Amino acid sequence: MSAAIDLPADELEAAAHDLEDADPEAILAWTYERFRRVAIVTSLQAGTIVLIDMASRLSSEVEVITLDTGRLPQETHDLIDEVRRRFRVRLHILTPDPGEVGSMTGEHGANLFYLSPELRNVCCDVRKTRPLARALAGYDAWVTGLRRGQASTRRDTPVVARDEVHGGIAKVAPLARWTNQDVWGHVRAHDLPRHALYARGYTSIGCAPCTRATRPGEDERAGRWWWEGDAPKECGLHAAPWRSGAGASTGAVTTARGTVR
Ligand code: SF4
Repeated sequence: MSAAIDLPADELEAAAHDLEDADPEAILAWTYERFRRVAIVTSLQAGTIVLIDMASRLSSEVEVITLDTGRLPQETHDLIDEVRRRFRVRLHILTPDPGEVGSMTGEHGANLFYLSPELRNVCCDVRKTRPLARALAGYDAWVTGLRRGQASTRRDTPVVARDEVHGGIAKVAPLARWTNQDVWGHVRAHDLPRHALYARGYTSIGCAPCTRATRPGEDERAGRWWWEGDAPKECGLHAAPWRSGAGASTGAVTTARGTVR
């Protein structure tokens, strides 16, 4: 993969410092001014719907990427259609490589994620991380809905950073300082489309077999991969600690149970 532009790390560090106290609209405005090709990456949760709304007021050429993993709940597909109707954006729906999915499920079964954390990571890698990595080649920056308050793994999220995992492009998190209440305040104020599963007690929404509603007092992301207990609630889009250098570069995914290609 090659980056579309060569971004000096010190420029992005300075931008992160300058934008630390900026509101999300200002961070997005800087992003669209600074970079030629920008992708908002969304899993159709409230935060990125807010970003799509803000960006579509700033630019007439907003590109949005979402991942159809093959295991999404129907409600997510319904919301994708609603976003398409509501916003004038270019929507790219990524799908995993059928050959990689076939190899993985052939070897480990369709529900391999329940068998071990390593196989759960393999599934997320094949269905999410790899398609996104392929799609981000050629973009200068991607925008995420990450917030520091979502999980301990996200509490140090910078507003802007150089993303070495994706070829050195910029990774922008305009909502880094926002709370869940801030997000929902914007959703209500602008009557934005919202995922139907929020009304059924979900507070973070991913693939159907890997997400449940949360209970009062639980962390926002406690319903993701709930059977893994207190393990980090990350799928690899924002960190991929299990990926070996060889696996990352050759297409092989190495797990405790062997190698999936
Ligand atoms: S969330 Fe579950 S089904 Fe979706 S890619 Fe990850 S392990 Fe696979």
